Amino acid sequence: MRNRLSRRVFLATGSATAAALAVAQPAVAAQGGGGLRAEGQPMPANVRLPAEPPRPRRSDSVGFAIVGLGDYAINWMMPRFQNTQRAHVAAVVSGNPDKARRIGEAYGVPADARYDYQTFEAIARDPRIEAVYIALPSGLHAEWTERAFAAGKHVLCEKPMALSSAEGARMIAASERAQRKLMIAYRCHFEPHNLLAMDLMAQKALGPLRLIRSDQEYRMRPVTPAQNWRLSRALAGGGPLEDFGLYGLQAALYLAQEMPEAVTASGFRPAGDPRFTEVFAHVGTQLRFPSGAIAQLSTSYDSSGANTIEVRGATGALTMDPAIGYSGHKMRLRQAGQASRDLTPGDPDVQFWRQVDHFVDAIRDGTRIKTPGEMGLRDVRLMEAIYASVASGRTIGLNPDGTMRA
Ligand code: NAD
Repeated sequence: MRNRLSRRVFLATGSATAAALAVAQPAVAAQGGGGLRAEGQPMPANVRLPAEPPRPRRSDSVGFAIVGLGDYAINWMMPRFQNTQRAHVAAVVSGNPDKARRIGEAYGVPADARYDYQTFEAIARDPRIEAVYIALPSGLHAEWTERAFAAGKHVLCEKPMALSSAEGARMIAASERAQRKLMIAYRCHFEPHNLLAMDLMAQKALGPLRLIRSDQEYRMRPVTPAQNWRLSRALAGGGPLEDFGLYGLQAALYLAQEMPEAVTASGFRPAGDPRFTEVFAHVGTQLRFPSGAIAQLSTSYDSSGANTIEVRGATGALTMDPAIGYSGHKMRLRQAGQASRDLTPGDPDVQFWRQVDHFVDAIRDGTRIKTPGEMGLRDVRLMEAIYASVASGRTIGLNPDGTMRA
């Protein structure tokens, strides 16, 4: 199987992922459902464009170039720039000129600040742009982050940071060379329910931690890798783990508040299903922490759907359902000797713009980034360990930085 993968795809998706996928279904060759090239796509369905032009901005506002005009950038992130303290959409980068024009006009982006993937390098000479927000398919994050640093800009990169630890390390090195900031857009670190959960765990509100269980699952429509990059190994790695399951992995770490020392995982690809010729349908992971706590993480592109986190300590339990979405979070705390209570710490919507404000604070004031490139790299390493366990069928020992023990 390994010989049948193109070298570029193999390197991009990481050897652990490729080996794991090979084990999961040795008979299927990589079919190249998407190349590693940024290319224009149609306007996403149901786009919401601002009814009015953006408000006047502060003189110290940081101008962002939005790279990749897909569903998440257009429908979720771009509208929230209005809520930031000092950030604005200064430019767009898209391979679809009509989309760039429509989105650009809606956000007051002048025609000469609408770039495409070929003219991207010219942003180096555009002082209106100080930072770049990368919202491309995951397999393109590393290349475009490096190009943005080469242009002298700061980078806010979507999760997963990259599809291999080699790519992640290159992104961090590029940030250091350029002396520009790198942040991974892990929005849950800015979301009130998840922040409260972190506080409760820091206060040992459940007593000593025993178990974490997370389920991040949905059912993918019947499409092929050529129709949806999320099913393409080159652009999405192993599939649901890098996409939705990463939230469960992240939550396990920010709730356990320690690094796991061992991982055991299995993955499954059903035969004959055109959705899963290149990526897994499900990945199940067990993490063991030095304290003795265990986390069970499930993620799937082929279940009826779940978005849940449950944490049990020796004396209490915390349930979040839905746990890590865009809205509608629910949270219930049970502590020894007390009735269960629902907690409503605030509006989840703030997560989108608070992460941008946080990044701007780091750019303007030199404050510490809570979700830096190093955190993204740590998580990519853990996903490599998960895939190494899938491939070998063995438990993999982990170092404190997430690398696999020799
Ligand atoms: P999408 O398919 O809706 O958009 C991707 C966009 O990238 C396309 O519209 C296109 O403009 C551009 N693109 C350039 N080259 C491409 C190629 N070869 N194939 C496909 N598209 C290409 O995807 P999305 O849901 O907007 O996801 C984009 C990124 O944002 C991913 O990295 C994803 O993991 C991340 N994301 C993060 C969150 C979050 O909550 N933080 C949510 C959704 C997506």
